[in-house]
Amino acid sequence: MPDIIQLLPDSVANQIAAGEVIQRPASVVKELVENAIDAGATQIKVNIKDAGRTLIQITDNGCGMSDTDARMAFERHATSKIKSASDIFAIRTMGFRGEALASIAAIAEVELRTKEHDQDLGTFIHISGSNIIAQEPVSCDSGTNFQIKNLFFNVPARRKFLKSNPAELKHIINEIQRIALANSDISISLYHNGSAIYELNGSNKRVRIVSIFGKNINQNLIPIETETSLVKISGFIGQPKHARKMFGEQFFFVNQRYIKHPYFHRAIMQAYEKILPPDAIPSYFIYFDMNPADIDVNIHPTKTEIKFENEQAVWQILQASVREALGKFNIVPSIDFDQAGSVDIPMPLRDYGDVHTPEIKINPAYNPFEQTGSTKNYSGTDRSFAPTPTQRTNLSSWQSLYKGLEPDFSSQPETPADEPVQFRMEEQQTAKSSVQFKNKYILTPVKSGLMVIDQKRAHERILYERLMQVIENHEVASQQQLFPETFELNASDATLLTSILPELRALGFDVRDFGKNSFIINGTPGVLHTSSPVEIIESLLEEFKNSPVNLQEKARETVAMSLAQASSIQYGQALKPAEISELIDNLFACKTPNFSPKGKKILSIMPLDDFEKLLK
Ligand code: ADP
Ligand code: MG
Repeated sequence: MPDIIQLLPDSVANQIAAGEVIQRPASVVKELVENAIDAGATQIKVNIKDAGRTLIQITDNGCGMSDTDARMAFERHATSKIKSASDIFAIRTMGFRGEALASIAAIAEVELRTKEHDQDLGTFIHISGSNIIAQEPVSCDSGTNFQIKNLFFNVPARRKFLKSNPAELKHIINEIQRIALANSDISISLYHNGSAIYELNGSNKRVRIVSIFGKNINQNLIPIETETSLVKISGFIGQPKHARKMFGEQFFFVNQRYIKHPYFHRAIMQAYEKILPPDAIPSYFIYFDMNPADIDVNIHPTKTEIKFENEQAVWQILQASVREALGKFNIVPSIDFDQAGSVDIPMPLRDYGDVHTPEIKINPAYNPFEQTGSTKNYSGTDRSFAPTPTQRTNLSSWQSLYKGLEPDFSSQPETPADEPVQFRMEEQQTAKSSVQFKNKYILTPVKSGLMVIDQKRAHERILYERLMQVIENHEVASQQQLFPETFELNASDATLLTSILPELRALGFDVRDFGKNSFIINGTPGVLHTSSPVEIIESLLEEFKNSPVNLQEKARETVAMSLAQASSIQYGQALKPAEISELIDNLFACKTPNFSPKGKKILSIMPLDDFEKLLK
């Protein structure tokens, strides 16, 4: 048999490597801007067309390249940043693998103009799909100018995998945000189809954060500063009361490199324990400075995951310094005092009828299948006992909640622990009412057993169908705001919101661009009865970002779906009996009462037989 193994041509090897390093236009932006930073640039301009599909242009005033270096730069494993393996452990530059330019040149058309500061003439190189088309002297500014055109022109599979322009642009904005936050001293600008998204002048970290996330974040920033022999930590953490239910303002940087670190994220969340509203995530901008020998940045091609030699120790130092910063700003002590003896911070109530102290007849936290112990004594408190969220945790004995609900059991024979609960249910059934359970489910007796309804999903379904009806019948009803509210978003959320404004308006959400990433809400959808539209918009964006549906084709459904999710009643929200029955009635008036808009089960029936088996 003839030998069959052969070496891949460079162009093919580079295309394969590109698959790892260059996933989308944003990866090109990241690699090229990082190269500009490594070249000592103090001014970097990024100019994008069609979310990077047609053009990505990066101009820097860095050191530039000689004509030989310019040619060499496109070779695989060609780098000026390391010379031997041991250098990897002293890396202070963003790049060092020498892969980016070779990869980009393999899957796009690249034009490079570059000139060293002490030279009169620069070099022009044109490469397309790894083939050099031209190299010649050119007169140009000092520094480097890359133009990347027709990305993935020879990799159709990649091209198809790209998302809509707003989605791709968002990735680009995110990369620029990270790099701009990591290098606040460098001036960076970003233009898309001719309009400016960022024009950031070199500044300190605080000013940089404010110019990216808007002036409102300024008073939210608590400085954090710690120095040990292992690591220096600096930056800012957000005040708990400003924590939002969405990701977007959480950043770790190590030696000016953005990294993802779920484990360190947990250190911060734990430091904030008990002082955050449920599901809220505090902002943080944490900068670690450490000896490059103590970290390994070479475990992932895009280098957003790195390994810490002393991860545990850094974790401890991080958590302690976050605690200290919170303490210094008097956040921990006062809150601990206010909340003494309770971990129950009331949910910010969403709009679902009026907000009242919940009037629940049944302890919603009580799970009949969990509780054991003596249940033979039914004397207790009043039936209409209505626990506040704080009181709820203080209720040690479940019996107290059932008084008045049950018939006289004194004549009943002694029963095992769980059994009386079933009597409660029977009692409910005769009272023809459904109950809320764990502030999450609605339990309602049906002929064949007990139906369990997920309250949030049910409400999502109801709102979704109403919103879709608005779209289908073009019956836009907008509830005009008495006091139109303005709000500001960070640039990436602002772009996303701008891209879905027409869909929102078709639903009755009258939101308009107010300039400089701010918006004004003049009206909300009549079908939603919302009282906190800004919060709804924020949750909507978060839901939208996580939507799997192809945004381009199904924007309306996706917006309706996200809006339904964002404005639905939440888990943990207590419902009044009238609200419960309204929810059930409305659910069964839906076309598809069984599944949430995202396809999750809304209800299930526990058959009577199962109850009998349970109690055998
Ligand atoms: P790496 O950054 O890992 O070294 P790249 O493929 O990104 O690999 O770049 C290869 C080389 O090209 C760099 O090491 C650098 O010498 C040179 N280079 C790339 N971009 C620039 C730039 N904007 N200015 C000056 N030199 C650059
Ligand atoms: Mg590089």
